[in-house]
Amino acid sequence: MLTDYHVHLRPDDPGTPAQRFFTPANAERYRAVASERGIDELGVSEHVYRFRQALDVWRHPFWAGQAVDDLDAYCGFVREETDLRLGIEADFLPGREDRMANLLEAGDWDYVIGSVHFLRDQAVDTDDEWDVWRDARSAEEVWKRYFRTLGEAAASGLFDVLAHPDLVKVWGGDRPRPDGDLRRFYELAMEGIAESRIAIEVSTAGLRKPVGEIYPDRALLEWCLECGCPVVLSSDAHVPDHLGYRYGDALGLLADVGVKELCVFDRRRRRLEPVGEP
Ligand SMILES: [Zn+2]
Ligand SMILES: [Zn+2]
Repeated sequence: MLTDYHVHLRPDDPGTPAQRFFTPANAERYRAVASERGIDELGVSEHVYRFRQALDVWRHPFWAGQAVDDLDAYCGFVREETDLRLGIEADFLPGREDRMANLLEAGDWDYVIGSVHFLRDQAVDTDDEWDVWRDARSAEEVWKRYFRTLGEAAASGLFDVLAHPDLVKVWGGDRPRPDGDLRRFYELAMEGIAESRIAIEVSTAGLRKPVGEIYPDRALLEWCLECGCPVVLSSDAHVPDHLGYRYGDALGLLADVGVKELCVFDRRRRRLEPVGEP
């Protein structure tokens, strides 16, 4: 069994309206490419902030500019007009857990993917006015904040999957990067991860980004495995051609660290299936 669960039916760019991308024909395009690549378990996980309902959770200016679609229409489309698993990529926002829980309650998800993109009102992965690195004191400080928040996200109980667990490295050498053994940062998230046993996403998206690495780093993955966390395999595709992107690399890593099973989700219940061949 191969999965791709962290999948967007459209790019993040402006000019990508739901009417054009949330269509049976577009879902079919994704299904066809996934099948070609040996991926049977395919699900979609639209960004929560593209829905109007997200403004009840947070009114960040970036969200206010993006939140135009209807969440119920998305759920109805995926359930009734496609054969894809229904997921969502929801941000972890400290202090707003109850509001996010209320929003998530409205959907009958197969899985909820939790992401840390924001540290307070700045983002770790956007190259714009909200870039956290614009006034960061040091790499040390940003990485510590990121991994503390990641641990809180795991512990929140809001999510089934912890997305791109070391996203803070996305820029590689284009932003400050701490030296030495990075486990001093990972350690800050481990209590939340260990207690929740949240499923850990192994994502090939980092291979398409400046960092050029899989998320998470092998040492972080090994730590999560020692804590008993299962693994979810995804590409974070935003176009059909990203599906299963460089899964050979990810499967090599999983074999190296002894992972033989992947998580499969159905209505927020998870089970394990043997890893398949691409
Ligand atoms: Zn993300
Ligand atoms: Zn994503």
